[in-house]
Amino acid sequence: MGRLIRMPLESHPEIREAVRKLCARFPGEYWRALDRDRIYPTQFVAALTEAGFLSVLIPEEYGGSGLGLGAATAVLEEIHRSGGNGGACHAQMYTMGCVLRHGSRAQKERYLPAVASGELRLQAFGVTEPGAGTDTTRISTFARRDGDRYIVNGQKIWISRAEYSDLMVLLCRTTPRDQTRRASDGMSVFLVDMRAAVGNGLTIRPIRTMINHATTELFFDDLAIPAENLVGEEGKGFHYILDGMNAERILIAAECIGDGRFFIDRASAYAQDRQVFGRAIGQNQGVQFPLARAHVQLSAASLMVDHAAALFEAGEACGTEANMAKILASEASWYAADQGLQIHGGFGFAEEYDIERKFRETRLYQVAPISTNLILSHVATHVLGLPKSF
Ligand SMILES: Cc1cc2nc3c(=O)[nH]c(=O)nc-3n(C[C@H](O)[C@H](O)[C@H](O)COP(=O)(O)OP(=O)(O)OC[C@H]3O[C@@H](n4cnc5c(N)ncnc54)[C@H](O)[C@@H]3O)c2cc1C
Repeated sequence: MGRLIRMPLESHPEIREAVRKLCARFPGEYWRALDRDRIYPTQFVAALTEAGFLSVLIPEEYGGSGLGLGAATAVLEEIHRSGGNGGACHAQMYTMGCVLRHGSRAQKERYLPAVASGELRLQAFGVTEPGAGTDTTRISTFARRDGDRYIVNGQKIWISRAEYSDLMVLLCRTTPRDQTRRASDGMSVFLVDMRAAVGNGLTIRPIRTMINHATTELFFDDLAIPAENLVGEEGKGFHYILDGMNAERILIAAECIGDGRFFIDRASAYAQDRQVFGRAIGQNQGVQFPLARAHVQLSAASLMVDHAAALFEAGEACGTEANMAKILASEASWYAADQGLQIHGGFGFAEEYDIERKFRETRLYQVAPISTNLILSHVATHVLGLPKSF
């Protein structure tokens, strides 16, 4: 690999340096082998946990380092820039926030220190359903109160890492949609202990996808959850997960920045080395300009990620900025991926260069965790005041 291209205003240099060192122990061969057989990166996640990088957002009193979202964006960006993938574990950073902000003292004391130490994995976030899609208010997985427990029935789809998580933050309806004042009322968040649930009302079915993402379908058939696992108040769950979703969008935008930097680093180095027609291909402006454009787009997107993270850290409303960071970063990383592959010529398709793997991986972020159209719709109606279309 060539030299790292410095981007403007990189925050948290010590964290970045430490993450780079850790990631150097998990080179392309490691990720390629896992990708080939769709294996979960257990060793990598263990190393990150041990080094404390997955608990940067957990307050010190619960065993974490108590840093802000900006520190977490630095961790994920560097993982992705190194050629790795934080998708295996990034959810812990934002699902934990739901427990931290809305959980009871007892829940925080019981779970957060164990999550910080790595004893418990809180990697699964169960929201999406086949019948609802992006319209979360239409979810129909239902949790019915029955004495000191809730009985859950329904189905979720695309729930990633469910097989590799001890706990899942689950969103269910507790009041049918047509019996609530607002469509976003009547949903509740639960902490599901996966170790007790699987085989006792919860079935997990893996979905093989174009990337190694450990995503699954979940089937709930009279799953009993202790009532003490309800997070916050019944009926307010949708509002609780919204700020988690902002954190998720900002963190995933940071992963896109890392992906984009990976492609630019690799393609710049390749363009310097590869000789065709007696000169380096990077001497041709037709090769230089797309890379320069990718760098410009990525730098702008990175500033929006930092801005959204700063608003989040300050406790300000940041829904629009989180969305804008996600769309800019995911489009910038995709442009960098497309150009990075082009510049590698035939070798862009060869597994051993890691370009084709990262190309597949970074494409996800224009669809998940929220698709581009839905972000544009948010900006059109909430920011520009245009009429709602749905
Ligand atoms: C690999 C992977 C991992 C995932 N992990 C998780 C997870 O861990 N937990 C979880 O809860 N979910 C997860 N998801 C789900 C993800 O958040 C959704 O796939 C995403 O939000 C899009 O929802 P959908 O697939 O239902 O698409 P739909 O809502 O069916 O939309 C399909 C397409 O139509 C467009 N569209 C829909 N309505 C409109 C409209 N009104 N105007 C314009 N365009 C519209 C959308 O933009 C999209 O392009 C994951 C998905 C994938 C693929």
